[in-house]
Amino acid sequence: MHVVIAGGGVAGSSLALHLASGGAKVELYDRMKSYGKACGDALTIRPGIERLVEETGSYRGEVSRYTVKVEGREVAHVDLGRRNWVIIDKRRLVDGLRSMAEAEGAKIHYRPWRGEKGEVTVDARGPYAWHLKGSVMVYRIIARTRWDRDHALLDFRVASKGFYWIFPADPEGRTVNIGGGFEEHPKLGEVKASVFRYARQILDSFEVLDERGAPVTVKGPILLHDGEAYRVGEAAGLVISTAGEGNRPALMSAEALAGAILSRWPNGVLGEYKRRISGLIAEVKASRMLLSFVESRPREGARVMASLPPDFWRDYFQSRVTISRLALLGLKSPRLLGVLPRVLLASRS
Ligand SMILES: Cc1cc2nc3c(=O)[nH]c(=O)nc-3n(C[C@H](O)[C@H](O)[C@H](O)COP(=O)(O)OP(=O)(O)OC[C@H]3O[C@@H](n4cnc5c(N)ncnc54)[C@H](O)[C@@H]3O)c2cc1C
Repeated sequence: MHVVIAGGGVAGSSLALHLASGGAKVELYDRMKSYGKACGDALTIRPGIERLVEETGSYRGEVSRYTVKVEGREVAHVDLGRRNWVIIDKRRLVDGLRSMAEAEGAKIHYRPWRGEKGEVTVDARGPYAWHLKGSVMVYRIIARTRWDRDHALLDFRVASKGFYWIFPADPEGRTVNIGGGFEEHPKLGEVKASVFRYARQILDSFEVLDERGAPVTVKGPILLHDGEAYRVGEAAGLVISTAGEGNRPALMSAEALAGAILSRWPNGVLGEYKRRISGLIAEVKASRMLLSFVESRPREGARVMASLPPDFWRDYFQSRVTISRLALLGLKSPRLLGVLPRVLLASRS
């Protein structure tokens, strides 16, 4: 079968690789010869994902310890005792996936997609598939400084509807990826200034090695087919909005869609695709509900976040938060149980 993929980021390139290795005739369009979009470069580990990181040689470091702050105040520290996120060289990952897809026979056109169609067409244009609707501008700096090599910090700013992060950017703790994104700062210049202010506040001294911004879709609906094309990754709305996590969902949805196309085409692809990512969809839905709750009641949201039990944060950093997991945690934490109905209600309003 002939498959056309619009966009060769994380989702599009890995989809091209899976489909081409499965025997499909694949044409991929990307407007950039080499991937260069800004990212925090963190990727939650799952078995198939680790293999792609190894095969593309994109491993940069790993994270097992996390500090959570709310409005600058430390509220939790989580030590998972083993690597949980890998830090990747994302350009290397995506460019590597593209080369591997080409080696399997995929054809890559380095120019914008102009509506070309195949027997199967897939939109993998990330935030651009939504014309940036529902997206937040995010800015990140790669800086030389001193930082624990396995430690990540998230600082939620509920009033500004966003968060800052600091992740290690190399295996020795010599560089960090520090960034942030806030719905209340829609302009790139504003978010850039606030990230620089934060860096000066938190790091003793630092030297900027690279800086750039990009949009991330945190509020798009989940859409697996738009009537013309299947959708994967951020183009399908698959971002864990409370964490801005889109890399793992992009890889997972690409693998699922490839499996569905190769096993079911021409009938039943959509149902099979949905079935294969039902767990991921549950995660995305839970993140949208939590976000709506916190944003609709910022004061209460900040209080609730500051008093969440450590088990919630363990789930959060392992990307396991779903409404049923929250209900289970609620049995141990009356405070969480008390807000759950309102979390569900907030998402309906
Ligand atoms: C600053 C920042 C930090 C982030 N940090 C993290 C993080 O630490 N961990 C995490 O998991 N997620 C993070 N994310 C989110 C993550 O980067 C994205 O969700 C992820 O890249 C989505 O992958 P994708 O393949 O769906 O889309 P993308 O990676 O955006 O790829 C889309 C591709 O489509 C191409 N394209 C767009 N329009 C066209 C067109 N018209 N024609 C042809 N090609 C086109 C683009 O060139 C691009 O290559 C971050 C996002 C930002 C902006």
